[in-house]
Amino acid sequence: MASILIIDNEHPIRKDIYDYLKRDGYSITTTMNGAEGIQLAISNDFEFVMIEQELSDYNGLKVLQSITRVKPETACFIIANQPSFEIAVESANLGACSYIPKPLSYEGLSFQLSKGAKHRQLFIEARNLRKERYNNLLELSREKSMFKTVLNSINGGVLVINSKGELVYFNNASLVNLNLENLEPGEQILTKLPKQIIKQVSEYLLANKYTSKVSEIELEIIPHNKLYIQSVCSHIPRSTDNFSGVVLVTRNITQKREIEQVKSQFVSMVAHELKSPLVAVEGFLQIMQNPEIKLTEEKKDDFIKRSSERVKSLFQLVNDLLDISRMDKKEKYRELEVLNFSEIVQSTVSLFELECKSKNISVKIDAEENLPMIKVERVEISRVVSNLISNAIKYNKNDGEIVISLSGNENYLNFTISDSGIGIKEADKPKVFQEFFRALNKQTRNVSGTGLGLTIVKRIVESYHGKIQFESEYGIGSKFLIKLPIFKN
Ligand code: ADP
Repeated sequence: MASILIIDNEHPIRKDIYDYLKRDGYSITTTMNGAEGIQLAISNDFEFVMIEQELSDYNGLKVLQSITRVKPETACFIIANQPSFEIAVESANLGACSYIPKPLSYEGLSFQLSKGAKHRQLFIEARNLRKERYNNLLELSREKSMFKTVLNSINGGVLVINSKGELVYFNNASLVNLNLENLEPGEQILTKLPKQIIKQVSEYLLANKYTSKVSEIELEIIPHNKLYIQSVCSHIPRSTDNFSGVVLVTRNITQKREIEQVKSQFVSMVAHELKSPLVAVEGFLQIMQNPEIKLTEEKKDDFIKRSSERVKSLFQLVNDLLDISRMDKKEKYRELEVLNFSEIVQSTVSLFELECKSKNISVKIDAEENLPMIKVERVEISRVVSNLISNAIKYNKNDGEIVISLSGNENYLNFTISDSGIGIKEADKPKVFQEFFRALNKQTRNVSGTGLGLTIVKRIVESYHGKIQFESEYGIGSKFLIKLPIFKN
């Protein structure tokens, strides 16, 4: 049953109220004192509090104010000696739910209490609704800020446009991807977008109904491959056959595009390199098969020899390509050994004895004593040395010389190979390590090669965290330097 506090210093009135309400089963607490009344009302949960207007220690309105300030849900009544309009207004302003003039009657009290119960219930409901609304708003604002944080941390650009073509939302990445300084929500966005995107978005904005279709385009934003993007556009559904706008997702694909270009350039270079020896061999075969062309035995031998050379070079090219592809895939299993580099150099040089003799080239090896060891795969490092020696012979003059020197310090083993050959022109120097680069001039015309040797050398050296450099003077000679990290036990 409901609980009531009566604060009244007139004993008969207190007694009347007590008797009336006791009949209805209320739980009743009484006090004569305003200060005690405040204390009781604040520290307990009374549904109703009845306050005599004139208390001996306090003004009843003061008591009312102190209680409603802390417990606004309590239904408070002021019991007034005489009916007074001013007191009625003031007590209502201070939060009283009603004003009860004396003399009191049972009916009057019952009526006031049922009014008070409604007042209290309405107050509690309104407070709960306010709390719920506040919590919902809080939740909403949390969700909103989370949504913003998530969208801003996405690598891709997100731009939301409503059905009138006005900007609803954008994240920072969309500004970067579209190379735009700033955008304002609410502005007409279409005119600010690149032409291809305007076309892409317009198709969606002008559609009669919602479509789940997604359109994807790729376009250049800053020329010369500086910024290339992918733009993906789709409807934002409102219902199954209506849409509320368009969402545009952009992604920077500049790097992917560059890789694709390099790849396609590489494929066309390979195709070209493979084609030219095949065309040459096919040409020789056709001439030899043609009954109308009478060839001397000597000429035939020459054609066969030249065909076989072109086939050999084709093999070399395919082997080089396979090596490069294995290095790219990093699938090669390496058997590393701690090796004496000087021994590898000696044995590789001996493999080129014949070539050196045929051009009368002298090879001098200058190796420091007690060279540090290196931990490498024998086959790979022999490949590095043989490619460099082979070049030093191929691009050398007759009667030329090659000087190889080996030295070491606490971090690196240094290998240099100098030749007195044709040298490399300034303009060609930056291209020397590029795939398929071959300097084209009088001296190189008859030298066979794939243009992949130095690419392979550089990749092997760098895979061991080594370095490769070269110096060259056109017409005088070249010097290649390799630094390989030494093996530290
Ligand atoms: P290739 O199979 O043509 O020898 P490389 O990748 O080994 O391919 O070398 C690329 C190009 O660099 C050569 O075609 C040549 O023009 C130039 N080059 C390489 N080494 C030397 C050198 N020691 N002297 C002069 N030119 C060189």
